[in-house]
Amino acid sequence: MSDELNLPVGKVLIDGVWSDPSSGEVITVLNPSDGGDYASIARGTAEDIDTAVASSRAAADGAWGAMPAFERGRLMHDLNRLILEHVDELGLMEARDVGKPLRQARADAVACARYFEFYAGAADKLHGETIPYLDGYSVMTFREPHGVTGHVIPWNYPMQILGRSVGAALATGNACVLKPAEDAGLTSLAIGELARQVGFPPGAFNIVPGYGEEAGSALSAHPGIDHISFTGSPEVGTLIQKAAAEFRRPVTLELGGKSPQVVFADADLDKALPFLSQGFVQNAGQTCSAGSRLLVEDSAYDQVTEMVAEKVSAMTVGPAERDMDCGPVINKQQFERVNSYLELAARDGLTTIGQAKLAANAPSEGYYVPPTVIGDVPADHRLAQEEIFGPVLSCIRFRDEEDAVRIANGTPFGLTAGIWTDDVGKAMRLAKRVKAGQVFINNYGAGGGVELPFGGMKGSGFGREKGFEALHGFTATKTVAIKHD
Ligand code: NAP
Ligand code: MG
Repeated sequence: MSDELNLPVGKVLIDGVWSDPSSGEVITVLNPSDGGDYASIARGTAEDIDTAVASSRAAADGAWGAMPAFERGRLMHDLNRLILEHVDELGLMEARDVGKPLRQARADAVACARYFEFYAGAADKLHGETIPYLDGYSVMTFREPHGVTGHVIPWNYPMQILGRSVGAALATGNACVLKPAEDAGLTSLAIGELARQVGFPPGAFNIVPGYGEEAGSALSAHPGIDHISFTGSPEVGTLIQKAAAEFRRPVTLELGGKSPQVVFADADLDKALPFLSQGFVQNAGQTCSAGSRLLVEDSAYDQVTEMVAEKVSAMTVGPAERDMDCGPVINKQQFERVNSYLELAARDGLTTIGQAKLAANAPSEGYYVPPTVIGDVPADHRLAQEEIFGPVLSCIRFRDEEDAVRIANGTPFGLTAGIWTDDVGKAMRLAKRVKAGQVFINNYGAGGGVELPFGGMKGSGFGREKGFEALHGFTATKTVAIKHD
């Protein structure tokens, strides 16, 4: 745990004060690089959620709600700067907590700061409209915050997902209650501490760590929440949506994907290669937008898959703090889950055409899965259909444009897609026909894209975070019509 940040151990952050959870208990935190205990976080309860929601309500109705938008923006700007001052510390904390290679963990801290920077600037630039209407009327719209927003985030990108969701909610004047994942809560608490130091009014940003079934479900079912933003598994997303339905509250759901990278024979393969080989390895494949299906036109299939397999075979998986190509997966359960897909591939006679190496002296208790490329996966096989959430790439052949669209759209998901071709017409036809919230042509991921609206179609969820569009999700439009003869 950080000395400089001086985070208190095992506390909840409510009303600007660190206090004990009502359970009086902590949850042990493991380092996935060696499987050992190294920290603990509070086991927050329904009672703590109650207290946090009441505190956020008071903030929304009080000092935070009344603060001019530009002053909210200034506080968020200060938070952006403070996060940037702590990038190394936050990066190390995240590397230990999530198992992310240091470079990736630091990049997450920088991205988190960037979300606060972007939304700081946006805070006083979101406004309503005036609408031409009947004679004798003036009509205007206001964009009002929902009030108290709940945020349930996963363990894969805690800092980035906190930044994009809490950042947009705070910018629009909502008061937030955050429940981070039990497997990766430390950096959320650290950013909460930095927000406290910056001087956010008490209750503007409360954090209750704990178990999903306990603190998470209490938050999503709380009648005092006006909106809930969730990123995680489809199963829990369904529970969140059902809980919100009880009080008819809006939700944003981001539920992962099985995103295709579609490579035509006329693509610039040298440019594509780093994106094809990295898109499924980043964060050990535990990325909702991982490019985990590689669709290649028949005539280029052997060449492309060989290039990718060779690149992946040169990679090394090892401890996060040794900053290699790939770190461990988050926990034992995820380790077993990913391995069960590799066993299924072997059982069904699918061929591993490339696999990374395990680093020398990697702790045997660490959760290491070497990035693996599987060739000629039938498009309807479970490896081509299900989100593995591990560093496994399924390669699939296609005949022509029509076939590529059919396969690309042939899963329950629709989060992102990559298209690689030199033919602009073909790229645009495909971009329009692919069901995905983000489509990348001759790139993938667009360098993170804080400014770019992001979210799912189909089973990947709904609602948009990131970019200016997120501000619409965290506000409700009020129309005021004045009759004045
Ligand atoms: P998850 O269970 O959906 O967890 C996401 C968040 O929801 C965590 O904060 C979790 O808390 C919380 N949660 C769990 N049960 C809850 C409940 N009943 N009510 C309210 N909140 C609840 O995901 P996971 O177990 O971490 O991962 C399982 C699978 O989900 C992965 O293998 C992957 O396929 C998918 N996933 C997708 C994304 C994505 O970005 N799309 C991210 C993570 C996982 P606790 O962690 O403390 O239980
Ligand atoms: Mg951990």
